[in-house]
Amino acid sequence: MKAVVIATGDELVRGVHTDTNSGLIARRLATLSIECERFVVLGDDEEALSAELLRCVQLGRLAIVSGGLGPTLDDVTRAAFARACAVPLERHAECEARLRALLEARGREYTASNARQADVPRGARVLPNERGTADGFAMQMGAALLVALPGPPRELQPMLDEQVLPLAREHLQARGIAVPVVCDAVFRLSGLPEARFADLCGDWMERGRNPLVGVTASMGVLTATLRARGADEAEAQRLLVAQVTAFVERFRSWIWTEQDEELESALARELLEKNLTVALAESCTGGMVSARLTKVPGISRVYLRGWTTYSNQAKVDELGVPPALVEAHGAVSSPVAAAMARGACDRAGTRLGLSITGIAGPDGGTPTKPVGLVWLGLCVDGVVTTHERRYLALGRDFVREFATRDGLHLLLQATKGLGVNG
Ligand code: ATP
Ligand code: MG
Repeated sequence: MKAVVIATGDELVRGVHTDTNSGLIARRLATLSIECERFVVLGDDEEALSAELLRCVQLGRLAIVSGGLGPTLDDVTRAAFARACAVPLERHAECEARLRALLEARGREYTASNARQADVPRGARVLPNERGTADGFAMQMGAALLVALPGPPRELQPMLDEQVLPLAREHLQARGIAVPVVCDAVFRLSGLPEARFADLCGDWMERGRNPLVGVTASMGVLTATLRARGADEAEAQRLLVAQVTAFVERFRSWIWTEQDEELESALARELLEKNLTVALAESCTGGMVSARLTKVPGISRVYLRGWTTYSNQAKVDELGVPPALVEAHGAVSSPVAAAMARGACDRAGTRLGLSITGIAGPDGGTPTKPVGLVWLGLCVDGVVTTHERRYLALGRDFVREFATRDGLHLLLQATKGLGVNG
């Protein structure tokens, strides 16, 4: 069975908001091996939506619509479903009771506009929404299954996972269509260009293969998904485990996590598990490494102190960088990065210290020290190493983002190489 995913809303076709629901829906459908035939983005247009739904009925598609279930007159999804399925809208008593209670609990009045949100096409199955006012609903029309979900992603996502996927699975099984079990493993890798990754994968990435390896790249980080399908859980797992083993063997030196997680989470996990303390001394990243690391709950046990030492004087005063060093080599240099990392470690009393000093631009570059030049310093148990990076001068944000990523990455690599503390 193929799916058509339809996002509705004038704000989407005016370019005010970007449709993120469709991608999410397609990714979730893939876990049932349901292929998404196309994405359709429509304004709040009852006629266009009902025509699209009618086509889905005729072709026996799974159609999932997001948006247009609100209480205002431009919310046309209910009417479009009723029209496409040639049934009237009916007020649903349970929907109405739930909506009334929800509004009363918030001290809001229940109005005629609200009441419209309790209207569903005759014969539809209501999909309760525990995070908002608009319930969804599903209509079976012969081989087709039409689903309406609210637009806000935080409402849509749990409804999709908890209600729509099980419903779609039931629908397929009832029609004698085998639903394979899909098992995934996710890895994140750094230091490897995407094309080289593909070369090393060989036929693992060939369309239609089982298991299949897929990859996406963002800010120099590769996210690889290994996906295996089987008639049952045991078969899918067996295939996946074999692929994971081969994958790890081949990509060991580039993998930094075997989960779909951010760098800071992987780093925090290592630091906390091994009880390793860390200090940060940032210049051109202005606290970005610190901000990323402090996103992780519980990090205060190991992240003891951080400095944003933006001026030369601050590097001298706060971190004890010798003024002569700054004078001789400049603030963006290997010796200064080293002194910053050591100073941070010494003053915070930590086992690990990271420093970042660079030229983010757009001004301040010279022929020998161009925009994009960044020095990172790493201090591990008193031993300091420095690392030069020359990023493309694609703007201040780009340089700072990459420097932040590389700082976190250096710390992660160092942490992986250390044992548990005390
Ligand atoms: P509500 O009861 O909140 O009005 P609704 O079902 O009518 O729900 P919309 O009015 O279409 O939903 O959208 C509400 C909000 O949800 C939008 O302002 C937007 O922020 C978000 N949203 C809607 N559709 C999408 C989409 N396709 N992708 C991402 N966000 C979306
Ligand atoms: Mg709306």
